[in-house]
Amino acid sequence: MERGASEPDPSRQRNGVVAALYGEFTDTLNDRVRYSVSLTESALTVQRISSSPGRSKVVFNLTDCIGCRAYRGPDSADVGAYFTAYFYPFKRRWMSAGVARQRVEQCFRVALVQDPLTNLREAERWAHAIRDASVLQAPRRDGVAYTEVRRPCRVMILVNPHSGRGQALQLFTGHVQGMLTEAAVPYTLVITEHQNHAREVVRKADLRQWDALVIMSGDGLLFEVINGLMEREDWQEAIQTPLGILPGGSGNALAASVHHYSQSPPAWNEELLLSCGFMLCKGLVGSMDLVSIHLASRQRLFSFLSLAWGFVADVDIESEKYRHVGAIRFLMGTLVRLATLRVYQGRLAYLPVKEAPKLPKGSIKANHPPPTPQHPSLCSSLSCRLIPNPSPSHKSHHNHNSTNSNHNTITKSSNNAITTKRPETQSDGKAVALVDSLLPGLDQPVPESWTVVREEDFVLVLAIYQSHLAEDLWTVPGAMADDGLIHLFYVTAGISRPALLRLFLAMEKGAHLACGCPHLVYEKVKALRLEPISPQGVITVDGEMVEYGPVQAQIHPGLARLICG
Ligand code: ADP
Ligand code: MG
Repeated sequence: MERGASEPDPSRQRNGVVAALYGEFTDTLNDRVRYSVSLTESALTVQRISSSPGRSKVVFNLTDCIGCRAYRGPDSADVGAYFTAYFYPFKRRWMSAGVARQRVEQCFRVALVQDPLTNLREAERWAHAIRDASVLQAPRRDGVAYTEVRRPCRVMILVNPHSGRGQALQLFTGHVQGMLTEAAVPYTLVITEHQNHAREVVRKADLRQWDALVIMSGDGLLFEVINGLMEREDWQEAIQTPLGILPGGSGNALAASVHHYSQSPPAWNEELLLSCGFMLCKGLVGSMDLVSIHLASRQRLFSFLSLAWGFVADVDIESEKYRHVGAIRFLMGTLVRLATLRVYQGRLAYLPVKEAPKLPKGSIKANHPPPTPQHPSLCSSLSCRLIPNPSPSHKSHHNHNSTNSNHNTITKSSNNAITTKRPETQSDGKAVALVDSLLPGLDQPVPESWTVVREEDFVLVLAIYQSHLAEDLWTVPGAMADDGLIHLFYVTAGISRPALLRLFLAMEKGAHLACGCPHLVYEKVKALRLEPISPQGVITVDGEMVEYGPVQAQIHPGLARLICG
């Protein structure tokens, strides 16, 4: 028996939001091929109706769905209407081993009656129900409830046309643009014209007009955006704007990290881009730590990725000239630098993280960073989705749905701690600044609670606060975007070239700490200070070269918000 119309099944209705639907539709190309289609709150199930028994059904998981739209066909004589759902499930790769997200679209023709409008309404009803169910099917953990997304959200996408191999714009139009259309996410492209253009744009932007700032470039452009936000008078609110990353550069560490946090199998290049585009369309937002960095010139910068000196910084800057080869530039740079391995003199000190007291066996994962009470891990603290601003006149729009209170990091300025140079003003007229309460002045000695490293000869010092240093460098196996930790690595002088190469090769699988290398030290810290003694060298912040000299840093847990999976 053929059921004429889709029938909601009231027994499946939950909270009045998603009802199960059942319908029978035809193939878009062949009217005689019919499908029975059912929608539950977790899946869209499609089964071909045919006389031959045993046809397998196809089940599409709604966690993989980014959108669905209904429309009339191009032929005005056609009474039928259509709806197409867009899925990006993990599927086996064609050419190599493993799985990656791949695009699958499912299109159906609705021709229940001879009235085109009735058919279109039915197609729209399905499209709406599929979209709703996809939103509700956001991955959820530990019972964290998500707020309902209201579409559309407005996204500013900043593209650096020169990043990576100079193909960021082509990559965007080729891989991301279509996804955003499928997900009905309106966006505005801003193509940067010079260095610091993005920084200026976000410093001056009316942020009430934007629900997210997304960068399509390498890490360098996000560094600009974050610093542009923190330079604003309203930085407290501005830095709450959800930030997204689409890998278009040669150094895509944050994109690789975010992909990793989503517990997806490793992906590179276009697959990584597709994964990040998918996360953008899904619109889940978590929190991200930032690190405040002080340079000798009293300049303060904000960093989301790394502070490096020695080998890593040299490779990053020297490999710029191999930018055209893409992410592999770091491997080339590593090999070149190994040939001219240098030792750097300097002093290093840090404030170690007190490990939480040991809990009974089985209650906490081995080697997992200690939980930070106010800022649970990215996965467990996922608290909201991209939500459009209620209205331009609604003032504190960026704060709604943020369950992470950052006020413990933002306090009134005091005399013994460093603050931004320009005090910020609140509506009540009181000046507040982000205080680096753990840092004394750079000209003062470090507090007694700090550990001073005895060695003075280093091959590298690397402070990193994401899991990946590059697409294929899994530097911190346990790191999360908001674990509240600076993961400090240093390699002391005396390491052989083969041993150093082994470390970097092992890092691809996150196995460098298991190499048993006596020259590699790893500490979890809250703050650190580095004072180079060697007169020449390179220091990088998020892969960008900064002034060479004494530098100190402290973590601000969960200060920013990040679109993640
Ligand atoms: P990559 O990973 O390829 O290095 P980045 O996003 O890190 O890509 O960008 C590299 C550098 O280019 C950064 O220092 C960034 O500030 C700068 N930049 C951004 N936009 C432009 C532009 N339009 N022209 C030149 N440089 C730019
Ligand atoms: Mg870069």
